[in-house]
Amino acid sequence: MKNIAIIGAGMAGIAAARTLLKAGHKVTVFEKSLSTSGRMATRSTLLGNFDHGAQYFTVRDFRFELAIQSVPGTQELIKPWSVTSVRVLDAHGSVLEAARPPKEPHFVAKPGMSALVEHWSKPLSAKQLLLGTQVTSLQIDPKVKTRWLLKTSSRSGKLQDHAGFDQVIMAIPAPQVLELLKHSNPKVLESGFAQELQKVEMGPCWTLMIAFPQASQPGLAHLGPQWNAAKSTHHRIAWLSRESSKPARGRIERWTIQANTKWSSEHLSDEPARVTAKLLKGFSELTGIYAEPGRTELHRWMYAQTLKPLGKPYLWDAQLGLGTCGDWHIGHRVEDAFVSGLSLALVM
Ligand SMILES: Cc1cc2nc3c(=O)[nH]c(=O)nc-3n(C[C@H](O)[C@H](O)[C@H](O)COP(=O)(O)OP(=O)(O)OC[C@H]3O[C@@H](n4cnc5c(N)ncnc54)[C@H](O)[C@@H]3O)c2cc1C
Repeated sequence: MKNIAIIGAGMAGIAAARTLLKAGHKVTVFEKSLSTSGRMATRSTLLGNFDHGAQYFTVRDFRFELAIQSVPGTQELIKPWSVTSVRVLDAHGSVLEAARPPKEPHFVAKPGMSALVEHWSKPLSAKQLLLGTQVTSLQIDPKVKTRWLLKTSSRSGKLQDHAGFDQVIMAIPAPQVLELLKHSNPKVLESGFAQELQKVEMGPCWTLMIAFPQASQPGLAHLGPQWNAAKSTHHRIAWLSRESSKPARGRIERWTIQANTKWSSEHLSDEPARVTAKLLKGFSELTGIYAEPGRTELHRWMYAQTLKPLGKPYLWDAQLGLGTCGDWHIGHRVEDAFVSGLSLALVM
């Protein structure tokens, strides 16, 4: 039995944790947020939930399919989302065409996307899943030089050392691995890990969530267009969807609007109020809805999407006992994260 630390409780980290637990290892997962799921996040508001990260997932890989079919309780948790969608074909949002029917089902978890990873993290006890705990550095354990010591910082600023790990998995976006390694023992940076990580490119995404409680009136199904989602080449917006069209989401009309990578990069440091106003304008151009939303929330994803993947499912240095997993190794989707986490755990 090995003592293994996993940094990050997104899909990749939890897929690895489950596999290693099953193999009989001692596992501790460190997660800087107060909940699991990472970029499969769901924001809860008084007016209903928003999936402000991953919108839906597909199931192409047989290993992902097997997990969905075999982990008890998963089938009840996920639902296909049959959505009427359009494609926006111009930069101003005025040319739309009906999207072709999807070639494969689009699944969502209920009551929000985060529910899937939350469910799959259940085998971990509170001692094995340390939420609100950011790993700030990896150091050699002073007591046993072949082991790792993780330095962490809690949300309240409490600093702690966690020693005695035989192996460490970093299940976090590539730029965050690089940042962590810069603050860690120099032998990690010398190991060749850093060069590999520099090949990967990830881009940001500004995401706006809006709710129209005034649309919930007798006789008024919803505001605006008949369609519920759009892939878009609008100069600001890459995607938007009506949250309330997803299964088990509540009736208040809510939309999630995701800016494209180029616009998000160019406006990364803009004031939130300015970003909100710009995305609302784009939303009106695309949907014809000019009503003032009753609620707006904004989220900036620094490393939302893989632009250039590494091209191998994981990195593993057996001598150092150090590995990485996450979607960015092979793609930009939920199941890439799952396959990466699983594949790494199976070679350890
Ligand atoms: C806006 C957006 C839209 C998307 N749309 C889709 C979609 O429609 N379909 C689809 O399949 N995929 C989509 N994706 C991608 C999908 O969300 C990801 O592929 C997947 O969730 C990545 O999982 P992961 O475990 O690799 O990484 P993450 O989910 O990023 O997990 C990493 C975790 O590590 C934690 N962490 C980071 N640093 C530290 C540290 N130092 N210490 C402790 N914890 C740390 C983070 O808080 C996070 O929880 C979208 C993503 C975004 C952002």
